Amino acid sequence: MTGSAEAEAVVVRVDRGRCIGSGMCALSAPGSLVLDADGLAQPVAEYADGGAELTDGLAEAVEFCPVEALALHSARGGYRIAPAE
Ligand code: SF4
Repeated sequence: MTGSAEAEAVVVRVDRGRCIGSGMCALSAPGSLVLDADGLAQPVAEYADGGAELTDGLAEAVEFCPVEALALHSARGGYRIAPAE
């Protein structure tokens, strides 16, 4: 493994107790995250269940969430990919 862009299906988990609804993630990764009726982030269906490709925008969204409410997990292995623990 080189760590380069090998496609790995990921799921996104949102800690709704932390999310403050800034909407930054939905702007960075509109194909992955949306704001729900409560104004909090939620992954679109494919990123909530089953997994889909990790895009640059999604990686940015996770990295720059101001309250660290987002986490990426491997869709297959379940292990956490980001942020680093
Ligand atoms: S960037 Fe973080 S705080 Fe803002 S809506 Fe997304 S998950 Fe919530």
